[in-house]
Amino acid sequence: MLDLLVQNATLPDGRTGMSVAVLGEKIVEVGARIQAAAHQMLDAQGYLLSPPFVDAHFHMDATLSYGLPRVNQSGTLLEGIALWGELKPLLTQEALIERALTYCDWAVAKGLLAIRTHVDVCDPRLLAVEALLEVKKRVVPYIDLQLVAFPQDGVLRGARGPEQHINNLKRALDMGVDVVGGIPHFERTMADGALSVRLLCELAAERGLRVDMHCDESDDPHSRHVETLAFETQRLGLHGRVTGSHLTSMHSMDNYYVSKLLPLMAEAQLQVVANPLINITLQGRHDSYPKRRGMTRVPELLAAGINVAFGHDCVMDPWYSLGSADMLEVAHMGLHVGQMTSQAAMRQCFDAVTVNPARILGLNGYGLEAGCNADFVLLQARDPVEALRLRANRLQVFRKGRLLACAPVWSSTLHLQGRPSSTAYIA
Ligand SMILES: [Zn+2]
Repeated sequence: MLDLLVQNATLPDGRTGMSVAVLGEKIVEVGARIQAAAHQMLDAQGYLLSPPFVDAHFHMDATLSYGLPRVNQSGTLLEGIALWGELKPLLTQEALIERALTYCDWAVAKGLLAIRTHVDVCDPRLLAVEALLEVKKRVVPYIDLQLVAFPQDGVLRGARGPEQHINNLKRALDMGVDVVGGIPHFERTMADGALSVRLLCELAAERGLRVDMHCDESDDPHSRHVETLAFETQRLGLHGRVTGSHLTSMHSMDNYYVSKLLPLMAEAQLQVVANPLINITLQGRHDSYPKRRGMTRVPELLAAGINVAFGHDCVMDPWYSLGSADMLEVAHMGLHVGQMTSQAAMRQCFDAVTVNPARILGLNGYGLEAGCNADFVLLQARDPVEALRLRANRLQVFRKGRLLACAPVWSSTLHLQGRPSSTAYIA
């Protein structure tokens, strides 16, 4: 006897009339019109059943702090960093945990069940590290939370010398933080940036950890840290375990140089996270008109065989005042900024918030196949493109066969003579 049988679902690959059979915490069979007894039956009514959303780039230590202690007036990355510096001494562990848990509630309701979050390690108290390790423990039943040791103020820029932040970062890793982070474009010089990439990749290689660096998050066409990141990945044999986040300078780089860079990135199996909501708002702030978009070259990276995900990055914090843990909103913006409007490209945008980030996090048992975890989201949409168009309602969210969240079907009642009595925005 099955525990759960989902029937009449559409899958992201386009198959319709599909059933998903669940026993305990696992999917045991995916097939057309499975007939079997189950404790619980779910008629998907032809709606899209997707594996859960995954966010490969977030800052959970800063989330929901908008307006504390003040609002970012210029809207730039640099003022955001300065503002975060003002907020840091005022943080308490209880408030950090409470805000993070509230965000995780939103995430679950939006079917977002795996998040890689950076956590600032430059505060010598490592308050945020302790808080997010506690959050990670508490949300284990419903969210896979992966932590990145992120030296927000520059790993080599400690006031007491380069060892200061490096030691903090190592302490954070000792405490159980999963991934090595970095911010080479914020080090004092290009040379220090390159040195930070080398040191941090060596540290990751020594400890057998993954790397995820904020890299070239600027409009500077001459920023070259992604080249160094690809080189160090190759040199240290870290293929497939290193992610470059943002890479916004690639938007502004010389086209000839990019034609050399892309194969180097592919050779190193570097993975990429673009953060469209944040990149479109933070970049180009020093331009008059025309104003650059600032998002990295997503279609070209994908065409070069490089795995690309879209991350949320920020929700209601010093860098971004909006957001609601909705990865479809993130993908929707990515689609527009990258002009990814063909049917195939729109489907790639859906993959960029599901299967692609799952690969970046190295999630085990992710997917809609026999043997995978029974984690899935039923969306009020008939296919991935409609899900993007509507930023579709999450009707049911399951984790390991257990219902975590549900919402009523969306529709608006109409009072129009001679017209239907309701609409759900489906033609
Ligand atoms: Zn970030």
